[in-house]
Amino acid sequence: MAFESLSERLQESLKKIRGQATLTEENMDEMLREIRLALLEADVNFQVVKEFIANTKEKALGQDVLGSLKPGQVVVKIVHDELVELLGTTVSELDLSSKPTVIMMVGLQGSGKTTTSGKIAKLLAQKYSKNPLLVAADIYRPAAVDQLKTLGEQLDISVFEKGTDVKAEQIVSEAMTYASQNHHDVILIDTAGRLHIDEPLMNELQNIKDIVHPNEILLVVDALTGQDIVNVAQSFHDHLQITGAVLTKLDGDSRGGGALSIRHITHVPIKFIGTGEKLDAIDLFYPDRMADRILGMGDVVSLVEKVQDVYDEKETMKTFERMKRGTFGLDDMLEQMHQVRKLGPLSGILKMIPGMPKMPQINDEDTDKKLKMTESIIYSMTLEERRDPSILNAKRKERIAKGCGRSVADINRLLKQFEASKQMMKQMGNLDPTTGLPTQKP
Ligand code: GDP
Repeated sequence: MAFESLSERLQESLKKIRGQATLTEENMDEMLREIRLALLEADVNFQVVKEFIANTKEKALGQDVLGSLKPGQVVVKIVHDELVELLGTTVSELDLSSKPTVIMMVGLQGSGKTTTSGKIAKLLAQKYSKNPLLVAADIYRPAAVDQLKTLGEQLDISVFEKGTDVKAEQIVSEAMTYASQNHHDVILIDTAGRLHIDEPLMNELQNIKDIVHPNEILLVVDALTGQDIVNVAQSFHDHLQITGAVLTKLDGDSRGGGALSIRHITHVPIKFIGTGEKLDAIDLFYPDRMADRILGMGDVVSLVEKVQDVYDEKETMKTFERMKRGTFGLDDMLEQMHQVRKLGPLSGILKMIPGMPKMPQINDEDTDKKLKMTESIIYSMTLEERRDPSILNAKRKERIAKGCGRSVADINRLLKQFEASKQMMKQMGNLDPTTGLPTQKP
């Protein structure tokens, strides 16, 4: 996960100062020195670091931290607020006020432009009830047009393409007409990228901009880029006046410096973050939550929203009813496991919970394997057996073991696990699903 070592180092230096009964100018300077080093090592642009430290120091001295009751806490709060400031203070959503809204996606090749175009289109269709059109204007990267077409098919979103022999300017111009004839209210243009910024690329993008008059120009940047991110962002911004950035691959092992520098350098907001290859791995960017995460304060709000997004309320209520009636079966347990799995890798979820980052590593592969094993066993049972596992005698177990290629011991282990969750469900069955309070006296 991005920011891991920065996060660790910052937490380490803040922990030291948190524990101090009194603060001296000396130990505050030492903490600031450590923070400075941590930021530099995380690849944060040195100018940004310099200002960050100067601001933190000025605020700390301004608040008379040295004489305050809990000086360490005050300093931690100042560092936190400074980090939020650096990341952009408020969440910045897409400007969807125009009809149609035109969004131009720009960035270097491999930054995640095409994937992110698909992710945003999906988000707009599902959450904002829009009817987006994806436009394939990257005619240089051989597979880009096909990639966008495949994405469109997967997502059931229209794609406008003219292959790779027509000039990008002509493609977008025709796409605008097509969009208006076919009632598309958002037009997302996937433009070409190069491995390095060059004049012809910038000229082409400028021409496209003049033709489509975009409401948003989103620069897609790969969080793994390191220091160079700043030059890339600056250059695109100088030529095109971008309106926002999307930071991709934050699920990767980036040191995070780019994310912390880009807003400060370009003064445009980070609007989205990409957190995986899957098409729903995109989130709005919340500066305060990101600061919380970096400083180890967890990200409970994101987690709660994720759960709300993913949980199928109807299914959950059905399960709940069965729990209350005492007819909770193996298929219900499997359904619950699937719902949890939809949240994404368990290790990622745990990272969002305060205090969790220091937990031993969760092996997502193991978790996946266990789920697959459970699936294979349950799918080899008859409906009757799934609903009422108490009828599983030795003969039936042997038949199931043969069917799924597992051992009878595996089946017994699963049944034990089922009994335990049934017990838990029974207790929860006495709770009101909306309030979480007991509905009847025990
Ligand atoms: P483009 O050349 O800018 O259009 O880049 P692509 O959209 O083809 O993406 C390049 C690679 O990065 C692909 O393998 C994507 O699956 C991957 N990718 C894009 N966004 C993310 C992300 O947020 N996380 C991860 N892990 N991979 C991503």
